[in-house]
Amino acid sequence: KENGRNSFCFFSKELSAQVNAKAELASALRHALKDFSEFELYYQPKVSADTGKVVAVEALIRWHHPCLGLVSPARFIPLAEELGLIVPLGEWVLEQGCQDYMRLCELGIRLDHISINVSNVQLDDDAFPSTLDRVLRESGIIPDALELEITESYIARQPGQARERLQYFRDRGVRLAVDDFGTGYSAMNTLQSMPVTRIKIDKSFVDGLPCDSNSVALTRAVVSLAKNFKLALTAEGVETAAQLDFLSAEKCDEVQGFYFSMPVTFDHLITYCRDNKA
Ligand code: C2E
Ligand code: CA
Ligand code: CA
Ligand code: CA
Repeated sequence: KENGRNSFCFFSKELSAQVNAKAELASALRHALKDFSEFELYYQPKVSADTGKVVAVEALIRWHHPCLGLVSPARFIPLAEELGLIVPLGEWVLEQGCQDYMRLCELGIRLDHISINVSNVQLDDDAFPSTLDRVLRESGIIPDALELEITESYIARQPGQARERLQYFRDRGVRLAVDDFGTGYSAMNTLQSMPVTRIKIDKSFVDGLPCDSNSVALTRAVVSLAKNFKLALTAEGVETAAQLDFLSAEKCDEVQGFYFSMPVTFDHLITYCRDNKA
């Protein structure tokens, strides 16, 4: 009985600590959204599997909190989504990313595109299409140089609504990639009917390459799907030469991962591009 009471106390303390931590993180996030100065976009090079040269970049947000230090997007993006704060945050990411792409152009670094992650909550926001139009106009980026990374769950959830919204983006000339493909349970005929231009093989498949037979089978299935649907193909999370060799032999056109580079600051990206651009 005594133990029972103690363990009840223990759990309730732990739970309330968790609730407090979440509430504190939420208030810190609201504060950070006042001027965005604690946020920074990092960039991970996307590399041609053929040449090993950088062809594009993916923007990945970082949050430098004055006390908590670097907070991982895996921790604060879900919270920002839950609180609806992803809408202003995502708008900032889109603006900053397009501006940085244009700065690269001014420096003579012409990349094929910049990829920006867009949350389901942003896509569902009725103001998002006009936000996108405004950012395209104000940044001056060619729409074809902007690729939005959407999740597979977005197209799986409400295919009809997704198709309509994605078509709006395609009509403007923006490219669309399905991120983390293979983890979101979308039906093949759903994918086929979506106006997307690329699929990204999830890291969890790449991890098992080239030895694990399930990973090999799944990767080959996604490669042939991309070929048949005439979609560009990126593999993420490439960490070893053996993974690269396998993906390159399978004719996956674009690869990214720690084998080439971790996500880096804009200044480091400039250096990386100068050293590794065709
Ligand atoms: P994601 O879009 O799937 O991004 C890939 C994640 O894997 C990134 O983590 C990247 O740093 C990491 N990564 C890349 N290559 C490797 C590798 O070779 N090995 C390993 N172990 N990891 C690798 P990160 O930057 O922590 O981002 C986590 C997730 O947070 C992203 O997953 C994305 O879903 C979300 N996220 C990041 N930035 C944004 C953003 O601006 N907007 C939205 N909506 N979501 C974002
Ligand atoms: Ca992504
Ligand atoms: Ca991904
Ligand atoms: Ca992933």
